[in-house]
Amino acid sequence: MIQKAKEILKETFGYDSFRPLQEDAISNVLNKKDSLVIMPTGGGKSLIYQIPALIFDGLTIVVSPLISLMKDQVEQLEQFGVPALFLNSTLTPEQYRENVNRLRSGRAKLLYLAPETLMMDSTQNLLSTLTVDCFTIDEAHCISEWGHDFRPEYRMLAKVRKNFPEAVCLALTATATPRVRDDIQQILEMKDSARFVASFDRKNLLLKVADKEKPLEQILDFLYTRKSQSGIIYCFSRRQVDELYADLKHYGHSARPYHAGLSEQDRTRNQDAFIRDDIRIIVATVAFGMGINKPDVRFVIHHDMPQNIESYYQQIGRAGRDGLKSDCLLLYSYSDKQKIQYFINQKEGSEKEVAEKHLKAIIHYLEYNECRRKPLMEYFGETYEKTECGLCDNCLRQTGDLQDYTVQAQMFLSCIARTEEMFGAHHIADVLRGSSAKKILEKGHDKLSTYGIGKDWTKNQWIQLSRLLIRKGYVKKDPQYGSLLLTDESAAILKGDDVVLGILDRTQTAATDEARTRTSSDVENKYNEILFEKLRVKRKEMADKQGLPPYVIFPDTTLMEMAYYFPENETGLMGIYGVGNTKLKKYGDSFLKIIKEFVHENEVQSRSTVVKQKAKKTASKQKYELIGEEFETGKSIDHLAEQFGVKPVTILSNLKKYLDEGNALDSAAILAASELSARKVDEVYASMKKVGPELLKPIYEDLNKTVDYNELRVLQLAYLAENGA
Ligand code: ADP
Ligand code: ZN
Repeated sequence: MIQKAKEILKETFGYDSFRPLQEDAISNVLNKKDSLVIMPTGGGKSLIYQIPALIFDGLTIVVSPLISLMKDQVEQLEQFGVPALFLNSTLTPEQYRENVNRLRSGRAKLLYLAPETLMMDSTQNLLSTLTVDCFTIDEAHCISEWGHDFRPEYRMLAKVRKNFPEAVCLALTATATPRVRDDIQQILEMKDSARFVASFDRKNLLLKVADKEKPLEQILDFLYTRKSQSGIIYCFSRRQVDELYADLKHYGHSARPYHAGLSEQDRTRNQDAFIRDDIRIIVATVAFGMGINKPDVRFVIHHDMPQNIESYYQQIGRAGRDGLKSDCLLLYSYSDKQKIQYFINQKEGSEKEVAEKHLKAIIHYLEYNECRRKPLMEYFGETYEKTECGLCDNCLRQTGDLQDYTVQAQMFLSCIARTEEMFGAHHIADVLRGSSAKKILEKGHDKLSTYGIGKDWTKNQWIQLSRLLIRKGYVKKDPQYGSLLLTDESAAILKGDDVVLGILDRTQTAATDEARTRTSSDVENKYNEILFEKLRVKRKEMADKQGLPPYVIFPDTTLMEMAYYFPENETGLMGIYGVGNTKLKKYGDSFLKIIKEFVHENEVQSRSTVVKQKAKKTASKQKYELIGEEFETGKSIDHLAEQFGVKPVTILSNLKKYLDEGNALDSAAILAASELSARKVDEVYASMKKVGPELLKPIYEDLNKTVDYNELRVLQLAYLAENGA
């Protein structure tokens, strides 16, 4: 029978192979053995009952708590040509009757029901006349009082189930806590049932934590390179949602808000707009997300720190259900932590204890210095075997990024000591920089030996160092006054017994693009974006015509493969992800037409032929020529600085000479030496265009001194390389 299941997987759903545990669980269900399946969101739970449903003679009942999801599932199944329907309170009497008729005449394989509907006498009467082969309980954690989403109606399911003695019982959930899992099995009396527990590691999610400095700027930086992607931004409060929404709108982003303060009507409208790709971004409180099945959410941003790991995991879980790489960015600040602590302090007894434990766990995760998947998986009782995932900020950081800040740390710590642990980071930074602010003179801090010894660094650098020291436990912040305190560990630094290694600037939000290309598939990296966009337009047009969300027609993965393989006939199309028989018939021609046109117009090129032209070798070369040629072989500016034993700035001026002599340089490779976000780079370029690229001072002034000269030098070179010197 499993052979039949594989055929259905390919022919009906258009997928090549089963995911881990799917095959075993399906076998078990087909053998009529009760099963409990625990898989994270996006793991592929649905197929575990959908495929057997197509094999069994009788009906498969699916109990689901969310009416919106029911509709979505049935719509998706219809697109695959699977006869499914639902019964719930949203149907008109006519629709209801029509569905009942379809059931009676055996014209449905799957029936989705809300538990209330299932319990109704009329439903029970109807079902007693039909053969039911499988009784599926989706979101089975709703049965447990220990879960986050208890539904009293679910309790009745154990009893109702007995009305279908021939049916196998299948319970599905994405809940990770062991207590809830046990509860499900016990309440449903599934004593001998097999458990299938998949790993909770969502391998396609890039996990990143950044220091929150200027959140709006950081988010704009992030969004800048993701103009056509869908995403969710979670905020702590309704007010924050409204503010951020207004800001994003002001900057031209297509966003809508979502929180419990909006009318039901507005919420539904905004949610629908998001699901149907009419807008790209939802700015929301935690109220948003239940019942969202959108598979192509490409990013989830936490503007504020989530309250605990469980809700964090649930929220980031809404990204990348389709398995494509997706970004999860969390902006973390010390004051967010204090805000949560403040709320915890209002609580009492065990409630307070639990909340404290949650806070501690999430802080542990946020301040973790190694692979973030380790603490995350451990929280859910899973051991993470690998030492590196390659897809979290800590793993992606190269060891070379770590710098030695011992000397500066010594200055900073001794300045804290000299000022008697009574001041915050800003004051310490001012003393170190020799500021003549009133407060400093009043306190006589200009007389201290540490006054003015840190002029080499900007104030911002000192503030970033203070964060690094707090993160590493070399400094503590007084919870009441915010002044910085020394710790037991500080002494070792001051005595020179320990070193401070770390990364100063952890505020960057945009630089995950490179990470993505390093770890994702060829299809994801190299699909043709122009064709992809054309296909998306077509998909949206077809979806609107039928009143469906676009992903129901084809998910992004399908369009991406089309824009990579360029299939020009039905056989080719059948090989594409998610193209089964029904969709092929329904949509094949329309999409093939676009692909064929594109291939014809653009004479699509094979990828392997693009080879970089190597610089010709000549006998006696000047240094700038050597540097230029080496650079063009792919070496970085830092690499060359080390190789030639000079400073990076010297490499830059040599490259400029190389360029001025009429040679070409790869501007993208130059830009790799810049730390600026793409958005900032464009701002600098615009300024260069305005005041001319040759002299740096006017550019520096034009940008209100926000970009330093080192950066401007890099960008000037990149600009000239791109626009011709
Ligand atoms: P869950 O219910 O566990 O959150 P879904 O059943 O919605 O996950 O599956 C997530 C996505 O993965 C869906 O788009 C589904 O069609 C797809 N999928 C499931 N199984 C496979 C498979 N074996 N191969 C390819 N795609 C799959
Ligand atoms: Zn990692």
